[in-house]
Amino acid sequence: MSVKTLCRGDLLKLFKHGVSASNKCVRARQSAAAAAGPGRGSTRGYYNSGKDWLQTPEKGARVRVVDLRSDTVTKPGPAMRQAMAEAEVGDDVMGEDPTVNELQKIAADMFGMEAALFVPTGTMSNLIAVMVHCRERGDEMIVGDLSHLHIYEQGGSAQLAGVHATTVTNLPDGTFDLDQLESKIRHGYPDPHYPRSRLVCVENTHNIQGGRVLPLTFLQEVRALADKYDLSVHMDGARVINAAVAQGVPPSTILQHTHTVSVCLSKGLGAPVGTMLAGPKDFISRALRCRKALGGGMRQAGVLAAAGKLSLLEMVGRLEDDHRSAKTFAQALLDCDPPLFAVDLTTVETNILRFRIQEPSLSTSEFCARMGQVGEGEEAALGQGIKVLMYPHYANSVRAVWHLGISPEDTQLAISKMQFVASQYVKEKLRAQ
Ligand SMILES: *Cc1c(COP(=O)(O)O)cnc(C)c1O
Repeated sequence: MSVKTLCRGDLLKLFKHGVSASNKCVRARQSAAAAAGPGRGSTRGYYNSGKDWLQTPEKGARVRVVDLRSDTVTKPGPAMRQAMAEAEVGDDVMGEDPTVNELQKIAADMFGMEAALFVPTGTMSNLIAVMVHCRERGDEMIVGDLSHLHIYEQGGSAQLAGVHATTVTNLPDGTFDLDQLESKIRHGYPDPHYPRSRLVCVENTHNIQGGRVLPLTFLQEVRALADKYDLSVHMDGARVINAAVAQGVPPSTILQHTHTVSVCLSKGLGAPVGTMLAGPKDFISRALRCRKALGGGMRQAGVLAAAGKLSLLEMVGRLEDDHRSAKTFAQALLDCDPPLFAVDLTTVETNILRFRIQEPSLSTSEFCARMGQVGEGEEAALGQGIKVLMYPHYANSVRAVWHLGISPEDTQLAISKMQFVASQYVKEKLRAQ
């Protein structure tokens, strides 16, 4: 039944049902929170906050879901929800939200930047950075050809900011060749044939290349080149805190080499919404104007910033758990019998794992489909059904991402499932021969 064919009464019923259902949800959550008691106020209560137990209607069996699609699927745990509920708020467009102001101060200090701005998403944050750095229509930025900015942001910098992009080839470790970078810098201005080079963007950790951490020496060299030609350096640091944890340095050590940075709070750091854009004071004042123009000026945003504060103050330490789990799973891929998988352990630096399947007859999409459904005989073999969600990825690889919704036990279940899928596949193949 489409909405159009509904009569007014039906719509009203639907609406009322929606309301009572959501009230029920709130009550259920409140009583669950009450039952959990104040002792659950720790951010350590983050495991299993998602709907990771599903009923399969056919058998009524319990099925465990291990969601490794992305670290964006995380849900705020009890402590974060409590902080959000109790947040002091004000009108942030008027600069009067104390929680947002506090979060911006915390971020600026942590990143070693003069100022920071709370922005709804990483995509908007990168776009604002591009708009502020490349002020004239037809200005040019240099980006990695596999960067998020270039691949996954719908060309917003061209579409909305009138900024031209030229690319450098991203190497498997997320870096690019510095001679190639230098060759892409324009020297023609004000000759009317050429755009004017303004900005170099780097991505750390590098998403598509599998959470790779940019070496500090690389960043230093990029900055030296940028300084030589009077260009700005922006870091899409959606996961730069993961990089800092992996390198065992404070984020400011990494960010001393960039003019500005964009850091996602809503990935491994577990906030439901939000990104921090940071840089010099004059950059942030322009960014503030730009954010408003793009519709990103939020009013009582302290409710969200309260979650972001917890992300920066209490969730950084746990990123190491994700890195360890990704390595554990990678090692299990190598140990798998039958040996179906290829992965270079030295490339598993943070929470994103990319691996390949060595068996040509097993495609990445079929492997992911098998991981994501409960197979025949699985409950007997593993004691329960386990659905492991992961995506086929760039260059015929599979990508899996660890985050705060995945406990060490979940990682072990995912390993069992991977071994089950591999041996089932080989058995079926032998039988078919
Ligand atoms: C997720 C991500 C973004 C964009 O963040 P959204 O909040 O999803 O818009 C930008 N860059 C990188 C590298 C990312 O991983």
